Amino acid sequence: MSDEPPRKRMVKLPSGGTEEGRTKPARLKTAWKRTPSQQAWLERQINDPFSAQARAHGYRSRAAYKLTEMDDRFRLLRPGARVVDLGLAPGGWTQVALERGVTQIVGVDLLPVDPLPPAHILQMDFTDPACGPMLMELLGGAPDVVLSDMAPNTVGHRRTDHLRIMGLIEIAAAFAIDVLKPGGAFVTKAFQGGETHYVMGDLKRAFTEVKNVKPKASRADSSEVYIVATGLKGR
Ligand code: SAM
Repeated sequence: MSDEPPRKRMVKLPSGGTEEGRTKPARLKTAWKRTPSQQAWLERQINDPFSAQARAHGYRSRAAYKLTEMDDRFRLLRPGARVVDLGLAPGGWTQVALERGVTQIVGVDLLPVDPLPPAHILQMDFTDPACGPMLMELLGGAPDVVLSDMAPNTVGHRRTDHLRIMGLIEIAAAFAIDVLKPGGAFVTKAFQGGETHYVMGDLKRAFTEVKNVKPKASRADSSEVYIVATGLKGR
C-alpha cells in the first residue's frame, strides 16, 4: 500500500470556478451525442434557481414550487383532504400535497413513478375510460381537489400539439366537475393563446371563481399558465 495520502478529487465547475464565473450562467461544452436542444435544456436546468432549490429541498421536480405558490394563494390543500393528481410524474406535486397534510391522494401518469407512500399511483393513460373509475375506487370517496399538470409529448406540428393539449384539459375538467365534492377545487395546466374559451366557459358555469395564474416557477418564456377553479357549485 502507498503511504501517500488519498488525493482529493478536483471537480471543475462548468463556469470555470472563478469568483466571477459563479455569477455568470454556466455553459456546458457540447458533449458527444447531446443534441443542441438537450444541451440548452441541461444548461437551463443548471442555471435555474428553482431546480437548485428543488434538489436542495428533496423535491422530485421544480414544478413543486408552482403548486406551492398556488396553494399559498388559494388554500387548496387542507389537512385530511382527498386529492387526485393527474400527470404526477415524477411526483413533485404529490410531495407538496403530502407535506401539507393531505392524507388520501391518488395519482396517474403514463410514466412509472417511484413510490410516494401513502399515495396510490397508477401507471396508465388518463384518457383511457377505465382510468377515472379506477382512481375513484382507490381514493375511496369524492375528492376535495383535482390537480392536473398533464402535458402531452409534442410532435412539433403546431395544430396537432394544440389539439392534444386542449383535449387533455377538457377531459380533466369534465372529470373534475363530475367527481369533485361541492365546494371542491380544480387546477389545470393550460397555455396562453390556446383555445381555452370553451373549457373556461364550462368551468365558470360550474365553479364560483375561475382564475388564470402564472406562478413564478413557470418559465417566463413559456406560454404555460394554470387555471385555478374553486368552489364547485352544488349539482
Ligand atoms: N406535476 C408533476 C410534478 O410535480 O412532478 C410534473 C408533471 S409533467 C409536467 C407532465 C406529466 O403528464 C408527464 O409526466 C406526462 O407523462 C404526463 N401525461 C401526459 N399525458 C398523460 C396522459 N394522457 N395520462 C397520464 N399522464 C399523462
